[in-house]
Amino acid sequence: MTTYFPGPSKVYDRLGEYLQDALAAGVPSISHRGAAFVDISRRAIRATKQKLGVPDDYTMLFVSSATESWEIIAQSLLRARSLHVYGGSFGERWFQYTRALHEGALPYVLEPDEEVPVTRLPVDTATELIGITQNETSNGTQVRPAVIRALRDAYPHALLAVDATSAMAGVATDYTTADVWYASVQKCFGLPAGLAVMFCSPRAVARAHEINERDRYNSLTAMLAQIDKWQTTYTPNVLGIYLLMRVMEDAPDIRTTDERLKRRAADLYARVAQRDDLAPLIANAAVRSDTVVTVRADPQVVAHFKGEALAAGLLLGNGYGPLKDSTFRIANFPAHTDTEMAAVGLFLTEAPTLTKV
Ligand SMILES: *Cc1c(COP(=O)(O)O)cnc(C)c1O
Repeated sequence: MTTYFPGPSKVYDRLGEYLQDALAAGVPSISHRGAAFVDISRRAIRATKQKLGVPDDYTMLFVSSATESWEIIAQSLLRARSLHVYGGSFGERWFQYTRALHEGALPYVLEPDEEVPVTRLPVDTATELIGITQNETSNGTQVRPAVIRALRDAYPHALLAVDATSAMAGVATDYTTADVWYASVQKCFGLPAGLAVMFCSPRAVARAHEINERDRYNSLTAMLAQIDKWQTTYTPNVLGIYLLMRVMEDAPDIRTTDERLKRRAADLYARVAQRDDLAPLIANAAVRSDTVVTVRADPQVVAHFKGEALAAGLLLGNGYGPLKDSTFRIANFPAHTDTEMAAVGLFLTEAPTLTKV
């Protein structure tokens, strides 16, 4: 059985070997204040920044989830006014968590096929931070790197924060174009859940010090002070950090992965387009995701497809939230082999049409 759920998703085939090595080395029991941990933390950060092309002067932090990053940004990088541009459930939740702390958080809701209207957003001099979701896992849309760059150029005074959860480690990204990037590792990193990474630009670090919020265990100022020593404010997911280190040390350069995923996504979308009973949820190819292929159909057809796929050993991802019955999703993540993606592609072409009774 191969899972194509877009998170938690398939883990790397070599994970068993990494886990064996971790157990043999006693990693689950080491102190998070000792030299062995510092070595793992430093290597994990070095490999992640190197393979993903993260600038040297960006600070990488370990957090527990993307959800925690929503909270950290709201509490530690914002005084009053933010704008959240989103078209799906994850972006909406980020906005809602921020709204719970700051009444000045504003939403800008995109239509499913709409590109971010970069120069027409309701941003003014009071807007301290703009939040966008690079790849909206719930509906299979993406904000392309060029659009993120355009946002930076249009609103240089605001911090730009990006939820990159189902893009980071799968999509080649110019990290200089935004101030905060974060992703949990159960998507494109091909790792078990319970860990996330966050990159902060020098500007974001400066803002954290300026605001100097110090009330919480995960206040950014406290986390920054600890990561200077390659450590964290609380006992972190040491095993997760070890696995991240191994996966990133073995990973190819992100540009290689990016090209591979784009090629496979194009193949899947082409196969969907050939059928009368399926359609891509997102018609506009400019905003369509390469990592989470979302397919729309009549709810009966969706159920039929998922059943047929299961019988063939392929676990398709359910639709998310309001799209639960009318879509299915196919994760196209780096941990999926080309053979596995070819198998789901062949299924899309060959699965029999549901004959109405
Ligand atoms: C999965 C996901 C999240 C939530 O991740 P957690 O690790 O559960 O906090 C947030 N944003 C996006 C875009 C996601 O895909």
